[in-house]
Amino acid sequence: MKRRELLLAAGAAAVPGLGQAQAAAPAPASAPLPFMVGRPEQTLLPKGRARRVVICGGGWGGLSAAKTLRKLAPQLEVVLLERNPVFFSCPLSNKWLIDAVDTSFLMYDYLRVSDRHGYRYVQCEVLGVDRAAKRVSTTQGSLDYDFLILAPGIRYNYEAWFGEDREAADATRTRFPAAYVPSAEHFTLKRALHGFQGGEWVMTLPPPPQRCPPSPYERACMVAWWFKSRGIKGHVTILDHKDGVRPIGPGFRAAFQELYKDQITYVPNAQVQSIDPFSKRIRTSAGDMKFDHAVFMAPHQAGDLAWKAGAVGLNAQGKPSGWADVHPLMLHLKSDADVYVIGDAVGWVSPDFNFYPKSGHVANRHGRIVAAYIAERAAGRDPQVSLPDNLCYMMVNGAPREAISVQFDYLLNAQGIIEQVQIDDNDRRAELVAENLKWAGTMFDAMFG
Ligand SMILES: Cc1cc2nc3c(=O)[nH]c(=O)nc-3n(C[C@H](O)[C@H](O)[C@H](O)COP(=O)(O)OP(=O)(O)OC[C@H]3O[C@@H](n4cnc5c(N)ncnc54)[C@H](O)[C@@H]3O)c2cc1C
Repeated sequence: MKRRELLLAAGAAAVPGLGQAQAAAPAPASAPLPFMVGRPEQTLLPKGRARRVVICGGGWGGLSAAKTLRKLAPQLEVVLLERNPVFFSCPLSNKWLIDAVDTSFLMYDYLRVSDRHGYRYVQCEVLGVDRAAKRVSTTQGSLDYDFLILAPGIRYNYEAWFGEDREAADATRTRFPAAYVPSAEHFTLKRALHGFQGGEWVMTLPPPPQRCPPSPYERACMVAWWFKSRGIKGHVTILDHKDGVRPIGPGFRAAFQELYKDQITYVPNAQVQSIDPFSKRIRTSAGDMKFDHAVFMAPHQAGDLAWKAGAVGLNAQGKPSGWADVHPLMLHLKSDADVYVIGDAVGWVSPDFNFYPKSGHVANRHGRIVAAYIAERAAGRDPQVSLPDNLCYMMVNGAPREAISVQFDYLLNAQGIIEQVQIDDNDRRAELVAENLKWAGTMFDAMFG
């Protein structure tokens, strides 16, 4: 547990605090760069003499890469392309649903942070990548790169449920959003919870690999706590694609049984067969039910951008694997050493554990690792292999506030295979909630401080 203690000690000096105002901004690293407005058919940024790194996606991975690159390789030009005007954190958003943290703790201004660190942020939709020409096209124009970092996060694969039925897919996404990507969906979900009058609240869990596997169970606990603490006659049914709760299974199961016996029913092996968002019915391999509200998590895949960049690999059956086909140690595409992929979009990396946990912590580590790789290459040196780690805290009780946690470490064995060590902490307690807030402070500082 030593590394965790070190991390927390470092974080203690950084940001944390419930709903505290963000730390005052230090002086910008260079003069603020002008906000970009353009059109798809024009050149967004002409190429100067400096070599350019273009980062697509300003989430946990992309932001960490941008800041680290400016620090390690100030001679490189860094451009961050992101569709959203502000950052919203998915980590901690379950706690935010029950008002345990403020909105201001989760939202950050892209322009302010890019000015501070001297990289350029352009708010745009990335439309495609021409890898042969080393060019990215966006709604604001196109731009050339020397190195490209793809950090697009995930997309929901509603097609797996609805095929070509766009009407049902759209109705499901708008009425019963998953709130698993940084977007307005989180606000829709919070409004639904706070307006819920009672009845059946259903949650489907996607098949692995998925974004943050323990977080749906945390969300179920937060929703159940909301019902219980407000005397709402609501009941949560968790329809899990898997055959059991994991990671931190004993900790979550204890919470379901000891805290939410009357509020939560957990159903394993409940694969979705059909959903009718209009009559509010769901059919699964474990049975059918009617619901009053639902959080429908369609299967996850690498974000659209990874597909547009031709970064998605093939599985053993020759079909798209759904995830980026990266070199497990260097994190660049197997087919293109100048294109890196980081965060949740990363595909298979090891026969020991298959995929890295799709977490903000790992995305942050990937961002830092890849920035260091690029800085080394730009200096004419061979990068040394570096591996991430992971740490996740999951709140299970709203009063008293208590959490459980899981930690992962990675090492390279003599055969060159990445091995995973997992440590579950199933003993729910208040101390872990405090640690979680310090962790968040450290992470926000790593991206925005
Ligand atoms: C409810 C919940 C709780 C979680 N809790 C934790 C936790 O406690 N700890 C933890 O470590 N992780 C947690 N996670 C997981 C964490 O949010 C993700 O793993 C992390 O965000 C992944 O980082 P990323 O950079 O890969 O993707 P993201 O953070 O999703 O960033 C991707 C960015 O790319 C942008 N983008 C995508 N496509 C385009 C395009 N075409 N053009 C322009 N921009 C584009 C998106 O707008 C987005 O900002 C949680 C997630 C959820 C949903």
